[in-house]
Formats: sequence, C-alpha cells, structure tokens
Amino acid sequence: KAFVANIDAANPRLNAYVVQTTDKALEMARASDARLAKGEGGALEGAPLGIKDLFCTDGVQTTAGSNMLKGFVPPYESTVSTNLWRDGAVMLGKLNMDEFAMGSSNETSAYGPVVNPWKSKTSNADLTPGGSSGGSASAVAGDLCLAATASDTGGSIRQPAAFTGTVGIKPTYGRASRFGMVAFASSLDQAGPITKTVEDAAILLRSMCSFDPKDSTSLDVDTPDWTQSLHKGVKGLRIGVPKEYVVDGMPAEIQALWDKGVQWLKDGGAEIVEISLPHTKYALPAYYIIAPAEASSNLARYDGMRFGHRAAEAKSLTDLYETSRAEGFGNEVKRRLTIGAYVLSAGFYDAYYVRALKVRRRIAEDFDKVWGQVDAILTPSTPSAAFALGDKQVDPLTMYLNDVFTVTANLAGLPGISVPAGVDSGGLPLGLQVIGKALDEATVFQVASALE
Ligand code: GLN
Repeated sequence: KAFVANIDAANPRLNAYVVQTTDKALEMARASDARLAKGEGGALEGAPLGIKDLFCTDGVQTTAGSNMLKGFVPPYESTVSTNLWRDGAVMLGKLNMDEFAMGSSNETSAYGPVVNPWKSKTSNADLTPGGSSGGSASAVAGDLCLAATASDTGGSIRQPAAFTGTVGIKPTYGRASRFGMVAFASSLDQAGPITKTVEDAAILLRSMCSFDPKDSTSLDVDTPDWTQSLHKGVKGLRIGVPKEYVVDGMPAEIQALWDKGVQWLKDGGAEIVEISLPHTKYALPAYYIIAPAEASSNLARYDGMRFGHRAAEAKSLTDLYETSRAEGFGNEVKRRLTIGAYVLSAGFYDAYYVRALKVRRRIAEDFDKVWGQVDAILTPSTPSAAFALGDKQVDPLTMYLNDVFTVTANLAGLPGISVPAGVDSGGLPLGLQVIGKALDEATVFQVASALE
C-alpha cells in the first residue's frame, strides 16, 4: 500500500508506470501474507516489483512502449515474470521504456519521456533516467517499487542504473529466458534486475534466471545463490583496467570516478592489471549494425494483421502493411528498421552485416585473451551523468555514444553490473561497471559489493 501511495503521488510527474495493476497487487500481497502466516513462502515473498513493459504479462497490456502494440493483452506470461510470481513477488504495474527498447533516454516511448527523480544542483532542468529501461530505473530510484525488471541489449539496464544511483546487472547471455520478452535484437537481449542494492540484485537475478526449453538460447546451467559472493572482499582478485576505455573527450569527472574505484579495489587487496581490448573502438559501429539488422527481422512480424495496430482504411494488402507500420512505429524505430534493412540487403550484406559479425567475434576474442590475466574488469558505466531531457534528441549519433562502455558486454555475451560509486559536480549519481567472465556472475557480485 505504501508503494501504491508513492506511485499515485509521484507518477504524474515521473511517468514511470504506463499501467498500474493495483487491485492485482493487493490481491497478490494478501496471498503472500497468507503463505507467510502458514510459515511458507519463496525468496521474494511480498516484494512489490515493477515490470518493464516488454515482459508479456498474462491479461495485462504489454506494448514495449509502442503504439504498434497499443491494446495488446498477452494470453501468456514471460518466463522471467513467471519465476518472480513463483517466488512470491507482487506486481505493481508495467513500466515505461523506449519504444521496443531502442534508445538511451526513454524519449522514444509512445507514452512520452520518463523523468529522473534526481535533480542537478546547478540546473532546474528535468533529467533523463536513461534508457531504454528508464521507467524501471526511475521507479526504483523514486521508491515507486522495491525493485524492477529490465532488459539490456546494449546497456539498457546498466546505463539507467548509473543515471539514477541504482544497481543494474545484465547476466551472461542465456541465463535469463527470453520467452515472452518482446524481441529487439535476439542475440543481444538479456533480462536483469534494477535494484537499490547489490544484495537485492543478487536475490532478484537468481529468481529471474532459469533454464527454459521455450528459449533455444537458454543455458542449461545451475543458478547459484549469489548472495554467498557478497562481502567477501577483493583480496587476491586481479582486476583489469582496459586502456581502450579511455575515450576521446571523456569528462575529467568520469576519469576521476574510475581512478577512485581502482584505488578502492587496490586498498581492498586486489591486484590492478592494465589490459588491452584492442577492438573496443569498433564495438559501437558493430553494435549499431547488428542490433538494427536483428530488429528489422524481428519487427517484420508487426504487419497489422496478427496483433497490434491496424490501419483503418487500406486499399490493398501492401497498403495495409505500409500504413499500419507507418502509423504504428515511431521515428527511432523507423530509423533502426531502415538501417537494418539496408545492411542486410543483397548489395551491402557482406560489406556491413558480415563484417560487423567478424568484428563482434574479435571483440569476444579480446575478452577471451585477457581472462588468463584478470578475474574481472572495471570501467565507468557511462561517459557522463544523466543529461537533460531534450538535450541529445536532435542528434542520434550523440545519443548512440552513450553506449560506448556497455555494448561490448552484450556483443561478447558477458555479465556486467553497474554500481553507484559517486556523484558529479552537480551532485548527480555516477556508476562503475564490473564485467566478468561468462557464467561468472559470482565474481561480478563479489567486486560490486566491494564498490558499493
Ligand atoms: N541504447 C542502446 C540502443 O538504443 C541500447 C538499448 C538497449 O539495451 N535496449 O540500442
């Protein structure tokens, strides 16, 4: 009830929730109370959560922030949310996001932007909570839920976490099932939590992950209890600091934050190793070819026929497809679909798409080569603190640069966490990122808990 009251009070300003499921939440909470009274209960019993609007929820509208899916009420539940309800969590509602998870500021949503609860000391402007999981991050930071689900294709869990002073982890590709998640770029998409603490992230991620035969890329592996990795210190761990992550024009405040993180880990007894990930500079261009290519294929299903928006008056079948898609998709989605169709087209496939796949392989190999020398890697999460809404909307390229530190983990399928680690001169939160080996979330959590 306290969270419902907070939502009612703050959501008109923050625009984090696009659907509230208050009756359902109270009913789930009562059922949870009843289980607890009988001495039963799961790991998340009674925990009130917000669900990013791209997880299909049975009987509750799911739109992925798009007019294309307005009115779509899934007849089934995503595996990730099924796991949460199995463990006793309570659903407060669906959270705003960039349309089809394409964006870094939550400004591409058909529901309008989400506002970050944080304000800069030096300006009164409304700030972005980041994206695409902007609703999730803003809701957690603003106490509109205890924690939230999110998804990360190129940074959409970690960047919003960094912008809102929260914790966000993207697990190893394949740990969380993609069944029932509205697809953006299937070889990169992963679910994960946004939470207030590293411990909450460890608890929630464990519930979210499971082997799922309904997702062909799901990994049949055990899901460990990651709370066992917390508060162990970092003595004896080798932490890599990649020199290629010192990017052109990186603000001094970000470098200072990174240096501080290095010092903390050193003081804790870790060995700091300078490493090289030479193909890092190609990560962003490769990502912005591969992700749109997969999107153009995935989003071909929105034809106005089977679900979602259908144009009212069409003169032919082709006209129906064209008009439905023209009306249903927003500008950023159209941009991505255009890029995707272009890089996959006969004359350009080898020059762009195949080349980007080769670069992706090199990036993964860069990581493989350093794992002999280090146990985890420390970088900043983002090249800046949260920016003002409207600031970068004019220029898609500047917006894409936001993902410079996060896309590599997606391209290589590795786990990455963002932990709040300091503030900038305006008092806004900044995050540090820890990247780990595939399936070694344990070390990622261990280092993250030392930075918290
Ligand atoms: N900002 C990136 C993009 O727009 C990442 C989005 C995401 O991780 N879903 O593609």
